[in-house]
Amino acid sequence: MAWQKATNILLVEDNPGDVRLVELMLNQPSNSGFQLTCSNTMAEAITAISNNGFDVALLDMSLPDGEGIENITRIKSRAPLMPIVVMTGREDEDFAINAVKAGAQDYLVKGQIDELQLTRALHYSIERKNLQEQITHLANHDQLTGLANRGLFRMRLEHAISCAGRRDESVAVLYIDLDHFKSINDSLGHAIGDKLLSEVSSRFLETVREIDTVARLGGDEFAIILENITQTYNVAAIAEKIIEKISQPFHIDDHVLHVGCSIGIALYPHCGQDVDTIINNADTALYTAKANGRNQHQFYTGEMNQQSVEKLNIDSELKDALSNNEFVLHYQPKYDRISGTITGNEALLRWNHPEKGLIYPANFIPLLEKNGLISEVGQWVLESACKQQVLWEDAGLGVGKIAVNLSGRQLAQRDFNNLVADVISETGIKPGSLELELTETLLIQDTHSTMTILNAFKSMGVSIAIDDFGTGYNSFSYLKKFLIDTLKIDQSFIKHVTEQGSEAAITTAIIGLSKDLGINVVAEGVETLGQLEFLQDKNVDEIQGYYFSRPVTADVMEDILFQQKSSDVSYQVNGD
Ligand code: C2E
Ligand code: MG
Ligand code: MG
Repeated sequence: MAWQKATNILLVEDNPGDVRLVELMLNQPSNSGFQLTCSNTMAEAITAISNNGFDVALLDMSLPDGEGIENITRIKSRAPLMPIVVMTGREDEDFAINAVKAGAQDYLVKGQIDELQLTRALHYSIERKNLQEQITHLANHDQLTGLANRGLFRMRLEHAISCAGRRDESVAVLYIDLDHFKSINDSLGHAIGDKLLSEVSSRFLETVREIDTVARLGGDEFAIILENITQTYNVAAIAEKIIEKISQPFHIDDHVLHVGCSIGIALYPHCGQDVDTIINNADTALYTAKANGRNQHQFYTGEMNQQSVEKLNIDSELKDALSNNEFVLHYQPKYDRISGTITGNEALLRWNHPEKGLIYPANFIPLLEKNGLISEVGQWVLESACKQQVLWEDAGLGVGKIAVNLSGRQLAQRDFNNLVADVISETGIKPGSLELELTETLLIQDTHSTMTILNAFKSMGVSIAIDDFGTGYNSFSYLKKFLIDTLKIDQSFIKHVTEQGSEAAITTAIIGLSKDLGINVVAEGVETLGQLEFLQDKNVDEIQGYYFSRPVTADVMEDILFQQKSSDVSYQVNGD
């Protein structure tokens, strides 16, 4: 029935004759879809607008309490999206143009209006308004996710800041970057990548309030504006909620994908007074969050700018770090689940900076990868770790294998297997005492040459471990194909195994499938007794983590190995 989608018209007209005329024209049987509400003054009209939604306003230009273009602006300020058709007594082209400029959609001259003209003007103004909205929407939104784009994000932030300034409130800007997105996009294709981004957007929207703005700034970069921040609205809690939501697996087509996100936060007015400063500071905080490890949030602090200046220095100092002997290896043991004895060590790189002290790999490995020095430094790591293992073995302290982390850049070197073979022969290490750790992503990218290199390692007798397993893909098919020896379940799962959520189920599944495939399975990042008990119950093979030992210097490790040898007891130690 027509009344179900009646077009609601607000007629603002003080002349009873004109009101009657419009009523008559719109009351024709052919116009049964119109629903008319009349106001005789601007004041009445404003009240009516605040109480009802109208599809269109038919506005007289001369009212007892308002005259001319002013009437349009007043209505617009209350209902910016409602189309307006003005009615005026004079035929005046300049006035018509001004009315349209002020925001009217159409213009009718009283005394010349007939039914057809009137209904057309009403219909067209609504259609034109819709079209205009669509175009504005397209110009302001990201096509893929429907979220605000960078332009709209800036406008909203400007608006939010000016409102907050007047009301003495705060605004928070969250800059968010997805972890692992690029590798998923590269290896599984854009179609999957796009679907993933849409799902991610929905999760963001579910986490924030209606009044907050979620924007996609490009690629896998997002931003959220949280308005009306009061003490009770806890920004940190929202950030953690977002991280938690994004770390839940995504089911896309046949894939189960794991992504995480890092968040940088800047607050108005604490971290800046204007849009550009706040955006820059949120970005700086994001950089810090990423450098400190995945899946966390960071609030901007004044020292961070200092740090980003220092970042530049680090880059140039890094070039000399190798020749200045500033790199050191620390060692973190892995323990047997049943006997609790050390089954092997992992070599972890640290940069012993002359002024800044010990710098952790997250802060400089990305830089080494960028400036190409990673191959050279990686070669040093391999050599040093092998030498150390030989020293320990010669001293009768040898345990299991020494594990060395590899960067994708190293694996991409054409003759990398030969470089490894050279290190083996130069250091005299038994190939069976060396394990190379690589990440899942490396297996999926460029499968053919990776296969050739890994097969070469196999035939030398070197073992292969997959590090951080579960964070990119659950690529069990690759494990079989590549003859993987060891699989290390990523810390992000272990961290939550004792809580409600999918981590316990995923960890159990990874352990079960590894057993089926005859692959040795290690849990990394074990910090608590609860986690240890869960993993023991699930029959994981080996345990690594702060609960047993942090990474320690070679000297400390030597003591630990010595004590284990002489007393057959495992120790809990504190390291770096
Ligand atoms: P990874 O290979 O997964 O190493 C484990 C990281 O987790 C280490 O951080 C270790 O100190 C830390 N960790 C160990 N147990 C626990 C725990 O119980 N709780 C927590 N929260 N953390 C724990 P680190 O040394 O900062 O190394 C970070 C990453 O840097 C490594 O992750 C590895 O991917 C990379 N890396 C380290 N050394 C090298 C290297 O020589 N070459 C390359 N290419 N990458 C390296
Ligand atoms: Mg590792
Ligand atoms: Mg790891």
